[in-house]
Amino acid sequence: MNQKIIVIGGGIGGLAFANLAAKKGYPVTLLEKNEQLGGVAGQFSEAGFTFDMGPSWYLMPDVFQSYFDLLGEKVEDHLHLVRLDPSYRIFFQNQGRSFDFYSDLERDIPTFESLEPGVGPVLRDYLEKSKYQYEIAIRGFMYKNNDTIFDFLNKQVAIEGRELEVFSKMSDYVNKHFKTDEVQKIMQYTLVFLGSSPYNTPALYNIMSHIDFNMGVFYPKGGIHEIPKALVRIGEKLGVKYRTSVPIAQINTRRGPSVKSVRLENGEKIEADIIVSNASVHHTESLLPRPYRDHSQRYWNSRKLAPSALIMYLGVEGKVDSLTHHNLLFSPDWKKNFAEIFDAPQWPTDPSLYICVPSKTDPSVAPEGCENLFVLVPIAARTEYTEDELEDQSNRILRLIEKEMDCPGLRERIIYKKLFSVKDFESHYNKLGGTALGLSHTMMQTAILRPNNRSKKVENLFYVGADTNPGIGMPIQLISAELAFKRIIGDTTSAHLASV
Ligand SMILES: Cc1cc2nc3c(=O)[nH]c(=O)nc-3n(C[C@H](O)[C@H](O)[C@H](O)COP(=O)(O)OP(=O)(O)OC[C@H]3O[C@@H](n4cnc5c(N)ncnc54)[C@H](O)[C@@H]3O)c2cc1C
Repeated sequence: MNQKIIVIGGGIGGLAFANLAAKKGYPVTLLEKNEQLGGVAGQFSEAGFTFDMGPSWYLMPDVFQSYFDLLGEKVEDHLHLVRLDPSYRIFFQNQGRSFDFYSDLERDIPTFESLEPGVGPVLRDYLEKSKYQYEIAIRGFMYKNNDTIFDFLNKQVAIEGRELEVFSKMSDYVNKHFKTDEVQKIMQYTLVFLGSSPYNTPALYNIMSHIDFNMGVFYPKGGIHEIPKALVRIGEKLGVKYRTSVPIAQINTRRGPSVKSVRLENGEKIEADIIVSNASVHHTESLLPRPYRDHSQRYWNSRKLAPSALIMYLGVEGKVDSLTHHNLLFSPDWKKNFAEIFDAPQWPTDPSLYICVPSKTDPSVAPEGCENLFVLVPIAARTEYTEDELEDQSNRILRLIEKEMDCPGLRERIIYKKLFSVKDFESHYNKLGGTALGLSHTMMQTAILRPNNRSKKVENLFYVGADTNPGIGMPIQLISAELAFKRIIGDTTSAHLASV
């Protein structure tokens, strides 16, 4: 355990990996480009408001629990979690109505029945199957490093997993079960969490419905940024060394090739025996000499990127009564909206959007009598714009919110406004094409078809984060951290580790 490990990047994945390696006894130094640790789960305070910059849904509490257990820690000692009630509110554009969902079937079925009479039993069966698939995914392959299709389709998955729906499309799978446009949208929207479109994502991801409707939606008081803060608190106890504002400019190799050191932008060199990069795979490869990169520029140009976003951080005077903690507005033309994000990139005509109002649950994030709004509109990665265009688009979105989400006069009450979009994702986090999330989970970018978490060409270079396996999402990075850790300790099992 005396091999020196350097972790490039302090997103959730990098922080989580560093803790596992330090617990095992490796000397670990984590080097982060930005001033703050947490990656896209950053936070800032302005004008009395505290804004989480990226993620806002605490899902898959079981995965957080398993990760903390592994470190001998308790989630509740670090995070004050509140189960949201309702979990979220959905508005349908042009319909003037909204519906609340509670992640509690007994309370949710009457709502579904009002949207599609007779759907209750179908929904129960559908969610039973989602639960079964989720359990296979967790037990069978999420925690396993798969290098070939034969690793992935191991005996257990082959026997139990015939039901996994790996080869059908999510849109077809949902539409086979549900008839109305509204219910179909409700059962598909969770794919946006994965940066994906229902029209090209395997139906395997209907496991998201189990997460959504059976497990509940939580919020850590103080904000989502409490999660990386907790990881760092644990890491400090375990001896992880953190350095911030130190962008890495180059990965140096020795003959083999294997990793040798990193060079920071300020010229300083730091030796390493093992490097685990939490920066995007594309960016990390750009730090290597060209012959040592696993993927060509052509490969990256042909990747389907998960969406970027137009994000507005808004401080609002007075209360916004029509909204709850999580709010979704669904586009009337679902297919066109996904096409404008994934296939024919352009500013969305009639966008779907999301608003988080954490001040509904947590008064600490806004001055008294005010509301904290995080507005997110998914848009295509690689979208080009001027600052004036971005401002115009944000005003268009605000008018839409006023009209469709029953918030008249919202614009006049905004006392703080900051925009964050494609160019910011690119410059702040080194995300390819300004994607907010990484590589989309299309059929061709799922499981073994995502970039591997081990460099094929450079020995002792590994990856952790949303671009590799299992993929996008905060809890998923805790699994990704365990997968990178398993690589290093040579563990090839499919189960979540029992101990470090
Ligand atoms: C707007 C938004 C909303 C989201 N909503 C949710 C949600 O509600 N729930 C959920 O579970 N997930 C959500 N996600 C997804 C989830 O937040 C991410 O998948 C996850 O946090 C990504 O973690 P990561 O480990 O891949 O690292 P990242 O957060 O991508 O961090 C990578 C780090 O590497 C650093 N880095 C890059 N280049 C260098 C370099 N050269 N030198 C040093 N450091 C470098 C970056 O600065 C960054 O800190 C959301 C994401 C976004 C952006």
